[in-house]
Amino acid sequence: MALPPLAPETRNLIDGVLCDASNGNTFDNLNPTTGELLGQAADGTKDDMLRAVEVARRAFDETDWSLDHDFRSKCLQQLYEGILEQKEQLRSIVVHEAGAPVSLTGYMHVDDPVEHMKYWADLAASYEYETRMSNIPFLGRENGRLLRREAAGVVGAITPWNVPLYLNIAKIGPSLAAGCTTVLKPAPDTPWCATHLGKIIAEKTDIPAGVVNIVASSDHLTGEILSSDPRIDVVTFTGSTATGRRIMECAAPTVKNVFLELGGKSANIVLDDVDLAATLPMAAMTCVHGGQGCAITTRLLVPRSRYDEAKEILKASFEGWSYGDPQDPANLQGPQVSTRQQERVLDYIEKGKEEGATCLVGGGIADGDLGEKGCFVKPTLFVDVDPEMTIAQEEIFGPVLCVIPYEDDDDAVRIANNSVYGLSGSIQTNDVQRGLDVARRIRTGTISVAGAQWFNVDTPFGGYKQSGVGRENGVMGFEEFLETKIIAIPADAEVK
Ligand code: NAD
Repeated sequence: MALPPLAPETRNLIDGVLCDASNGNTFDNLNPTTGELLGQAADGTKDDMLRAVEVARRAFDETDWSLDHDFRSKCLQQLYEGILEQKEQLRSIVVHEAGAPVSLTGYMHVDDPVEHMKYWADLAASYEYETRMSNIPFLGRENGRLLRREAAGVVGAITPWNVPLYLNIAKIGPSLAAGCTTVLKPAPDTPWCATHLGKIIAEKTDIPAGVVNIVASSDHLTGEILSSDPRIDVVTFTGSTATGRRIMECAAPTVKNVFLELGGKSANIVLDDVDLAATLPMAAMTCVHGGQGCAITTRLLVPRSRYDEAKEILKASFEGWSYGDPQDPANLQGPQVSTRQQERVLDYIEKGKEEGATCLVGGGIADGDLGEKGCFVKPTLFVDVDPEMTIAQEEIFGPVLCVIPYEDDDDAVRIANNSVYGLSGSIQTNDVQRGLDVARRIRTGTISVAGAQWFNVDTPFGGYKQSGVGRENGVMGFEEFLETKIIAIPADAEVK
């Protein structure tokens, strides 16, 4: 697939104007595949962020953005069409700055999220914001009740770098559709996936000035303004659990609604009835996009009775796995997003070896330029992993699979649930009822049985335990950006 030459918008969007940082500074955007400089992004300052918050507050309080559902729907439809027009440019940006394999951009990285904007445009208009509840008696009188949902206010949205376009759309789509105004802060590794949306918003839509603001910055702490400023009502965050905790802390003094999509350590349980030769090669999919996906199943639980057979099949599949240049459609694994992430993954691999797991395939930096100039890590297969080892407990966010043997279904459930995370998972079986019985016992927000998949814009997504708070996508995700108001009225009142 030939990508168009990069032509990204590199400025921030504040109060409807594409602008450089207030001090004129920029920061480097590097290509993780080659280590080369792609270009610059405006390096938003704390003053820029404070101004974005101020204008978002003003737009919420002083315009009828939150009340005019049809106008919002029209604006989001314009945004959808603008994104659609720029789809190939966005594809080029995602592949270059995030190292996303081009073959995967047809799915979560580009084509799906573009269509998601259409879903949010439609939902803005079709959602039932006010419904009548049944009448209730009180002190001898009948009372009517209106259940009304209203925009929650000003939203601070903070996104990571792993699926940046998807997540930027997953934040601004529903928050704007619900009638909130929004300030988006993308990760410093992937600024253009956000700033380019800013250009489309400014040039192709009637979204009023201040309703949506985009502030890229090299300084992570610029984001803290969004979790602490009293003018923000809701923080929606996707990223690591450590940062999620910090966001909760910063949001506590002003008691903000905090909505968090955090890390995962999901288990893929292979029940003993499956054809291992047909099923296990798929386990190498852990390495997709360098393993940089929160819902990827990174722990593979196999029955001890078939452990040796499983190890052989897995070894062959990891050895045959193709990785490298993300622009080559044969590769489903590109680089880690940065040298910092590459080093983090390599540290975990060393830890796994130190703690006594057996590294059957890979286990280090990729050979030659891939590893030296680019940020590649070899697809890595660990077997003989004890469920308590660091590599079985902590999120690695790299192309690393941990294989853990289990005794019976109860043992598999116990190991799968032995995690501070609870994001996703899967059960491999030919017996769907048995798989369902196991799935019902796993404490995660999503789970797949017998190869079925759940991802869609109307599927609520999120985690149990330390994988997060709240749900993204679907009507449930939309409602994260609404407040609930009950209005009591005389029982016989007509309501328009
Ligand atoms: P991160 O937590 O380091 O950063 C995420 C974002 O938070 C970035 O924009 C960063 O600049 C910002 N940030 C950092 N410190 C901040 C602070 N104190 N206040 C406000 N903002 C701050 O995460 P990352 O390394 O960029 O992303 C990887 C993590 O994201 C992984 O743990 C992964 O599982 C998680 N993730 C979760 C989901 C999900 O939906 N559950 C999806 C994608 C990624």
